[in-house]
Amino acid sequence: MNSIQENEHVTVFREFLKIRTDHPTPDYESSTKFLVEKAKEYNIPYEVYRETGTPIVLMKIEGLEPNLKTVLLNSHVDVVPAVHDSWKVDPFSAWKDESGNIFGRGTQDMKCVCMQFLEVARRIVQSGQKLKRTLHLSFVPDEEIGGSGKGMEKFVYTEKFRQLNIGLCLDEGLASPTNDFTVFYGERAPWWVHITAVGNAGHGSRFIEGTAIEKLMRTINKMLAFRQEQFESLHHGQHECGKKLGDVTSLNLTVLKAGIPIDHSNNFSYNVIPTQAEAGFDIRIPPTVNLDQFLDQIKEWTAEEGLSFKFASYIPKNEMTKLDSDNKWWENFKESCKKMDINLVTEIFPAATDSRFIRNLGIPAFGFSPINNTPILLHDHNEFLNEKVYLRGIDIFMGIIPNLVNME
Ligand SMILES: [Zn+2]
Ligand SMILES: [Zn+2]
Repeated sequence: MNSIQENEHVTVFREFLKIRTDHPTPDYESSTKFLVEKAKEYNIPYEVYRETGTPIVLMKIEGLEPNLKTVLLNSHVDVVPAVHDSWKVDPFSAWKDESGNIFGRGTQDMKCVCMQFLEVARRIVQSGQKLKRTLHLSFVPDEEIGGSGKGMEKFVYTEKFRQLNIGLCLDEGLASPTNDFTVFYGERAPWWVHITAVGNAGHGSRFIEGTAIEKLMRTINKMLAFRQEQFESLHHGQHECGKKLGDVTSLNLTVLKAGIPIDHSNNFSYNVIPTQAEAGFDIRIPPTVNLDQFLDQIKEWTAEEGLSFKFASYIPKNEMTKLDSDNKWWENFKESCKKMDINLVTEIFPAATDSRFIRNLGIPAFGFSPINNTPILLHDHNEFLNEKVYLRGIDIFMGIIPNLVNME
């Protein structure tokens, strides 16, 4: 396509897509350099915060009443890896087809929102108009690697973060395949449970009682029965009360380990009953479930003698943002969308985002990516976003963010 005719904001977006912030070796220095250059060009005050170990780019537009609670626009700059062979184009070339679909890793998750937030900040600064509250932007690393990251999870516990004095955070949502837009007000808690069973050994030709595998199987079966219940309530819900994935607890057996290997080969001793067997589960729990009670449930499942469990991922707290008339941020957000004839659907995010760290501090957070009429392709091959949808997203944010920042 002839790039001369391209909208300048689309060009900036495509430049940002080309920066290799994909794991496992994200180039954060290049993304930081890009953001800093843009901040300078747009006259947005900025700083690069490095205390958590990787650079976080912060931008700030001071309000008329800087003591009021502020608004934070948070976005992560890292992206998940892309399997080149499964893509029809180079996932880091930001290739655009004739209809304006831009293909690239991060087009939906979430380099689009990074650049839309940046453009909103530029327009506010350029307008010369002072807003009531202070507006902060944070561009963080390591969202995609969860617990081991040096991004938001660590940043929220710093003095720097506390000083931002945040009243509301906007962060990523998901694309919507329909004409509606989705807003997320909570997430499911990711719990990864590792269960170990120990039991009696013996020769494979005998009826040995109380073996590790037997005990583990009993527990696995109980947990898979629970999985089936949840699956059915989701399936049932699609016809009855509109239950979505974010409303139920999902549970998958993702690790299974037993058997006595012969030396260090791939062969096993088929005639030896192993004394130990292990299983791992990926469990995602909606914020409507009491986590203490669910922990008791896991203890009950693993109560049999010889069984024990530990967490590979565990969060004890999973706050959600209340969407009622007491939440003035939500009323303001809704009102802005209504004025633009935008139909909002509210949901629990089926996976995890940085919003959970914010909500667990008691700060409300909305997950919202202004992408509609687009298939959900985050983390998928051939992830794309149409340039018109991207540009409309900037206008949508312009219809929402200044109102939030000007809120009484
Ligand atoms: Zn994301
Ligand atoms: Zn992601």
